[in-house]
Amino acid sequence: MNVNQSAPPVPPFGQPQPVYTGYHQSSYGGQPGSTAPPTAYGAYNGPVPGYQQTPLPGVSRAPPSSEAPPASTAQAPCGQVAYGQFGQGDVQNGPSSTVQMQRFPGSQPFGSVPLAPVVSQPTVLQPYGPPPTSAQVTAQLAGMQISGAVAPALTPVGLGYGPPTSLASASGSFPNSGLYGSYPQGQTPPLSQAQGHLGTQPPQRSAPPQASSFTSPASGGPRMPSMTGPLLPGQGFGGPSVSQPNHVSSPPPQALPPGTQMTGPPGPPPPMHSSQQPGYQLQPNGSFGPARGPQPNYGSPYPGAPTFGSQPGPPQPLPPKRLDPDAIPSPIQVIEDDRNNRGSEPFVTGVRGQVPPLVTTNFLVKDQGNASPRYIRCTSYNIPCTSDMAKQAQVPLAAVIKPLARLPPEEASPYVVDHGESGPLRCNRCKAYMCPFMQFVEGGRRFQCCFCSCINDGMFTFPPQYFQHLDHTGKRVDAYDRPELSLGSYEFLATVDYCKNNKFPSPPAFIFMIDVSYNAIRSGLVRLLCEELKSLLDFLPREGGAEESAIRVGFVTYNKVLHFYNVKSSLAQPQMMVVSDVADMFVPLLDGFLVNVSESRAVITSLLDQIPEMFADTRETETVFAPVIQAGMEALKAAECAGKLFLFHTSLPIAEAPGKLKNRDDRKLINTDKEKTLFQPQTGAYQTLAKECVAQGCCVDLFLFPNQYVDVATLSVVPQLTGGSVYKYACFQVENDQERFLSDLRRDVQKVVGFDAVMRVRTSTGIRAVDFFGAFYMSNTTDVELAGLDGDKTVTVEFKHDDRLNEESGALLQCALLYTSCAGQRRLRIHNLALNCCTQLADLYRNCETDTLINYMAKFAYRGVLNSPVKTVRDTLITQCAQILACYRKNCASPSSAGQLILPECMKLLPVYLNCVLKSDVLQPGAEVTTDDRAYVRQLVTSMDVAETNVFFYPRLLPLTKSPIESATEPPAVRASEERLSNGDIYLLENGLNLFLWVGASVQQGVVQSLFSVSSFSQITSGLSVLPVLDNPLSKKVRGLIDSLRAQRSRYMKLIVVKQEDKLEMLFKHFLVEDKSLSGGASYVDFLCHMHKEIRQLLS
Ligand SMILES: [Zn+2]
Repeated sequence: MNVNQSAPPVPPFGQPQPVYTGYHQSSYGGQPGSTAPPTAYGAYNGPVPGYQQTPLPGVSRAPPSSEAPPASTAQAPCGQVAYGQFGQGDVQNGPSSTVQMQRFPGSQPFGSVPLAPVVSQPTVLQPYGPPPTSAQVTAQLAGMQISGAVAPALTPVGLGYGPPTSLASASGSFPNSGLYGSYPQGQTPPLSQAQGHLGTQPPQRSAPPQASSFTSPASGGPRMPSMTGPLLPGQGFGGPSVSQPNHVSSPPPQALPPGTQMTGPPGPPPPMHSSQQPGYQLQPNGSFGPARGPQPNYGSPYPGAPTFGSQPGPPQPLPPKRLDPDAIPSPIQVIEDDRNNRGSEPFVTGVRGQVPPLVTTNFLVKDQGNASPRYIRCTSYNIPCTSDMAKQAQVPLAAVIKPLARLPPEEASPYVVDHGESGPLRCNRCKAYMCPFMQFVEGGRRFQCCFCSCINDGMFTFPPQYFQHLDHTGKRVDAYDRPELSLGSYEFLATVDYCKNNKFPSPPAFIFMIDVSYNAIRSGLVRLLCEELKSLLDFLPREGGAEESAIRVGFVTYNKVLHFYNVKSSLAQPQMMVVSDVADMFVPLLDGFLVNVSESRAVITSLLDQIPEMFADTRETETVFAPVIQAGMEALKAAECAGKLFLFHTSLPIAEAPGKLKNRDDRKLINTDKEKTLFQPQTGAYQTLAKECVAQGCCVDLFLFPNQYVDVATLSVVPQLTGGSVYKYACFQVENDQERFLSDLRRDVQKVVGFDAVMRVRTSTGIRAVDFFGAFYMSNTTDVELAGLDGDKTVTVEFKHDDRLNEESGALLQCALLYTSCAGQRRLRIHNLALNCCTQLADLYRNCETDTLINYMAKFAYRGVLNSPVKTVRDTLITQCAQILACYRKNCASPSSAGQLILPECMKLLPVYLNCVLKSDVLQPGAEVTTDDRAYVRQLVTSMDVAETNVFFYPRLLPLTKSPIESATEPPAVRASEERLSNGDIYLLENGLNLFLWVGASVQQGVVQSLFSVSSFSQITSGLSVLPVLDNPLSKKVRGLIDSLRAQRSRYMKLIVVKQEDKLEMLFKHFLVEDKSLSGGASYVDFLCHMHKEIRQLLS
């Protein structure tokens, strides 16, 4: 796709629409070493210049009615009738109770396999609707003796599971599940007493166990990793950063002492998760691993016992049982099922309260009155009618909103509606914008607001030409000609009333602010950046069919002082102006600082050539930071425009200036009550500065290149509050990191941004938005202020009841985003979404979306660490999850033995995903995770959409040689556990930030040759970040897959090749999230057991 291509002709509304120019960025990052700017983004709004107002036949002005009926008039309830307007085709919009959508049809019972302990159980409390949510996940979680295919397992054997502290130790003993392998039968795990579980004890924070060797488990499995060798390359700051995951700045220090080796015979490869095991079954050998020593809090010895805790049973002979991982809900299976069930049909948004396909499913969206799930996803599409019900269920009611989300080429971007001087149509009372749910009455002369029920008199609300007659169903006859009357998402052109100071905005500006201190020069960053900018400036975002971008650019370099550059087109050479008074920042020039790229190209090129030379011999190591942002913001203020600062910064700003910081990193604070201070900014100066930036519409994107602690928690305050982005490249070296940095930079500079934005979420009576999460600023309780907002950023909004909701009318959300486009046009983007309301809890649980729930819960927790001890935050999450599931068990599941864990179908992955959040680097850091890493990830997650949090917390693990080479599709993923790795295979693992290629030790020589062009496994370079370009099908396939994975993500994922048993494998295993983690995070199985115990406690 080429941005320079001419725009296709504008189609009329309702016709096939222009593709979204420039959406695909397949060239990004996929071409190693390429320095040519890749295909640029087109404007997200495509070439549609505006909604074409076609003359409407038969329009006549109706006699105005002088008296407005009272708002509380007995006219039909707006919601009810409004939904009735949708009569298109076979799309039904009946009352909520008749259109219950379910994610899985009843024919997909996950308990249909006649093996215990999976039980298909009818849901109770279902007065109406389709057959019961078939799949109540039931699993007997422990102490079960299952034999073969018989299904007697419903017998509630005692499950008085021990306290959490004891659970963690269990996972260490799963065959193949931990880094250190399993313990021999009957042997007390060396670490079990010391490892905390779920934060109940401080996680093991020091080096991994020093025991020099463990034997491999009797049960066999993949070979134990050999962890011999010196410290890892790149370990510690300043060392060569050969292979760093993108957000982990260094491999685990002292991963193992030299000479430590895990010995043990290789076992057979573990069973791969495959179709041979449909459903979740306990295996005959199922148990909690080999026997262990007595646990501190148990009433009875654990080993092998089918019962323990309160109901001690007789000790069982070996072999002990363990809970089979295949018997518990599998994320892979759920994702596959959804793809199979919902991937083929378009998702049509005409039905209220419809749960969309999962974010992992590829599907098309047809807007028929509700916003696409690409714009809004909800934790539940059926809201309890009362706050009492909501409190009982504890399911957070939240929407994850991505107002400027990019769409695939097949889907049309929102139409722009121009109502001329009268501006967007709104309810006079609540100011909601015209939308498909507004109900026109009295022959079309008035409309009743669907949000506040106010009857608006057309005479005072819309211009005469907007009048239209109603058809026999009460719908305006022009409804389908008007986006605002028929679509879930559209834009209005704003009038001058919507502009700051009642003045239409100027086009925004970009200011590039480059650190030229010693570190920046030495690493090659400055030279690389200046070279890249020369070409990248040709690809600034532009509107629709515009030939060139309206965005002006400016340049600043800095260390302890700031250098401004005059790049006016009339100059032969750029001029530099130095401002050394950083305490009182001002902009020394106005004319010639912000310029049009094409006009000033020669001067700009000259400047970018000269900057690396000018500072080549610098000895200056100190930098300032706040004054740089201040300067950029003042420059925008002087130019009376909004814009974006691109800051390229290397070090802790210790030079004497406002915002000066000190190194306050202290790992000893971890797991103390003061840990929260590590996440808090160390000075309030940056919040004050951010507030000024927001007022000016000055968004800040920060690219960090630290060699040591830079206090990301403080430096990211301004980007975070201005809707900007932070990128971090620890120990940046051109040869290792240039591809990643340049890819991110290109994407960041080219992406379409809405500037100087305000977002408001309105709701129908009964609920209201009460809390907001994301990168923005709020000066009151309702308006989300965004100096900038791009297509990657989401705002998560939580709702609470303030009145009773009505099943018939449902609940409505309207998100209105007022912003300045990159061409300087002031616009409103509107997204509407109608939800169902229920009086039965079962309906709530049937219409939840776990991925969105996790997105909300992660953001809630990640904000919580600013004010509460991390342990408290983790405990809160666990309690909430247990309450959610206990409420379901109590109210929606039919009575069954307490020995069963029954999960709602839509939430069966809640435990595994929540566990991933709990053991994430922010909430439970391993020894290798730095304070800056944690602060960095914390702010990244804050703006993530649902797809991003999904893969971030539960990475994708793709086996590469299992599927035929010719297969064009991505291979089916396997669960993120070491048990799923076969040492004869290779795997890709990605989580949106990191990308690993894991090579099994027994992989065929031919595969090694095809991929790496070496003759044996031992010759593969560990830590390799680029695969050789080889002309064979396997090499092409793998490199193609890597490109495709990168294209799907908003940040470039640098590849790290990891060999089985190599020291780098430690990094890789960090992402095998179903296993117990080194930092003490529970395995999935253990966590599920713990969750089960919590639920039982709540129910007893
Ligand atoms: Zn209203």
